[in-house]
Amino acid sequence: MRVGVLGAAGRMGRTVCAAIADATDLDLVAALDPGGAGETLHGVVVTSDRASLTGAGVEIAVDFTHPDAVLDNVVWCLQNGIHVVVGTTGLPEDGLDRIADLASQGTANAFIAPNFAIGAVLMMHFARLAAPHLPHVEIIELHHDRKADAPSGTAVRTADLIADAREQAPATVMGEVLPGARGGERHGIRVHSVRLPGLVAHQEVLFGGEGQTLSIRHDSTDRTSFMPGVLLAVRRVRDRPGLTVGLEALLGL
Ligand code: NAP
Repeated sequence: MRVGVLGAAGRMGRTVCAAIADATDLDLVAALDPGGAGETLHGVVVTSDRASLTGAGVEIAVDFTHPDAVLDNVVWCLQNGIHVVVGTTGLPEDGLDRIADLASQGTANAFIAPNFAIGAVLMMHFARLAAPHLPHVEIIELHHDRKADAPSGTAVRTADLIADAREQAPATVMGEVLPGARGGERHGIRVHSVRLPGLVAHQEVLFGGEGQTLSIRHDSTDRTSFMPGVLLAVRRVRDRPGLTVGLEALLGL
């Protein structure tokens, strides 16, 4: 399979390029990143021109870029018949509908996951299982201080899964003395974002009940944690018509 990486010179993009170059069944044939143009990664020269993807015969593109760039990249790939695996978070709210619509036209498929770490996918799954039994819940996500979006895509996805699984959102006490002290809110779930150097990607889902709490926590301490999930999606996207959201679809969860 001929693979191209968008955002190739970024933190995730470099790790993805290395993982693809190491995989015997995948060929890294194009690398795109305006900021890193001219650099050579695993024998491939980084370019700033998306036409290099079609020129190199890319069948599957992997996007780890920026919330402002991702939708345009995905639309371009689908319109050019290139299957696309998307890890970039912070997609605009209407972006998923646009991608689903384009992918349903049958030329190329899209696979989007807010978190490719298998442990994080299990954390979200376990949170969904707990939610009907312990409806009081808050999400604390912690990331490195260069992350562009807040809250994280994983926190948003976790809140969506919990909201679908529990019958109703219990009332929460606000009483903020310092505005923002109770975090953001999605489906009645408070979401708290921590940004600090030294962190990679971490999340705790904290449930509370009568006389008890349940903490479900996942820590990515290295970006290689995302690679088995990314490679799985790259290998499977061709066989999944339309748009697939979430790695859980490939894990039988
Ligand atoms: P990063 O280090 O800033 O890398 C992003 C790279 O993309 C930068 O080199 C940037 O170049 C480049 N870029 C920007 N616009 C582009 C475009 N139109 N075409 C090609 N390249 C472009 O960020 P990161 O830490 O790797 O994270 C990237 C994304 O992945 C973020 O949205 C993050 O939340 C997400 N992420 C997802 C997962 C997951 O499992 N799904 C895991 C980790 C991170 P410039 O610096 O020159 O702008």
